Amino acid sequence: MKDINQQDLEKNIPLVTRKDYQREVKAGLVEFGKEKIVVIAGPCTIESKTQVMEIAKAVKDAGAKMLRGGAFKPLTFPYGDPLAQPDSNSGQPSVDRLKVLTKKEQMESAEKRLSYLAEAGAKYGLPVVAEIIYADSVAMMEKYVDMFQVGYRHMWNMDLIDALSKTKKPLLLKRHYGESLRSLLGVAEHYEARNKHNFAFVERGVAVPHTHNPQSRAVIDIQAIPALKEFAPSVPVIVDPSHSTFKRIYVSSVARAAIAAGADGLLIDIHPEPEKAWVDPLQALDFKAFEKLMTEIEGIAKVLGKTI
Ligand code: PEP
Ligand code: MN
Repeated sequence: MKDINQQDLEKNIPLVTRKDYQREVKAGLVEFGKEKIVVIAGPCTIESKTQVMEIAKAVKDAGAKMLRGGAFKPLTFPYGDPLAQPDSNSGQPSVDRLKVLTKKEQMESAEKRLSYLAEAGAKYGLPVVAEIIYADSVAMMEKYVDMFQVGYRHMWNMDLIDALSKTKKPLLLKRHYGESLRSLLGVAEHYEARNKHNFAFVERGVAVPHTHNPQSRAVIDIQAIPALKEFAPSVPVIVDPSHSTFKRIYVSSVARAAIAAGADGLLIDIHPEPEKAWVDPLQALDFKAFEKLMTEIEGIAKVLGKTI
C-alpha cells in the first residue's frame, strides 16, 4: 500500500485536494462543514412507517439535523434479508429467513421503505440519506432521498460512482475498512472529475488485528480525520461510530472523540428498542443515550468554536 506523496496530490488528485476552495456540500437546507457539526441519525433498517416516524421525532427533539435509514441492506450473508419482512407493525407473520429476494422484489421493498423515510423527513424538517447499492436505482431513489450514501462494500463500484455523478443530489462516501486514504481520495477524484463536487467522506474504521471485543468490527482511525483535512481541506469528514464499533457501549465515547478530533459530523444508528432492531441490534443507541450524546457533543463543539 502506498502513502500519499506530493506527486499524487498534484498529478492524480488535483480537484479533491484543492486548497482555498469553497466547496458547497448541502443536503436539502443542511450545509456541511463551515464550523457546523451535522449529526445524522436513524435506524439501520427502515422497519415500518411507525418506527421511522418515531425515530424522526427523536432525531429532531435531540437537535440532530438529518435522518438516516437503510432501505437496501447489503448483507454479509444471503439469509435473513430484512427487505423480505413485512412492516413490523403490519401484524403479518415474518417471512422465511432463507428467502432470497429477486432484484425486482428488493427494489419494491426498498421503494416502500424510502417513501416512509421521505415522509418522516418531511414531517420533521430533516433531510434524509439512504444507502444505494444498484446504479440503476438512482432514478427511483432520487425521488425520496436528499443525499445518497455509498457504503464501504461499494466504495470502488465505478458504475455507482458514475451514476451518482449524474444526479444533483450530494453523496456520503464511506471508506472501506481495508482501504487507504489514497484510495478514498482516488475514488472521490473519479466522482469530482465527472464534475460533481458535493460530497463528504465517512470514516467507519479500519481493520486491525484486535478490536478489544469479539463483537466489534473495526477501529475508528482518528488520525484519518486530520489527515483528510490536510489533504482535502474542503471536503467534510463524517464519522460513523456505529458500524465501526458495532457495540453500543463504545459508540458515544468514539463519537465524542471524533468530534474532538475535528470531524464535521456523525452518522449514528438509533432505535426505540435497540435490542429488537432487525439489523445491527448490538450497536444502536436508544433515544435517551442519543440525547445525552447530543448534549455532550454540543459542549465539545462549543470549545472548538463550532455549532451543532
Ligand atoms: C449503513 O450505514 O447502514 C451501513 C451498512 O454501513 P457500512 O457500509 O459502513 O457497513
Ligand atoms: Mn447497519
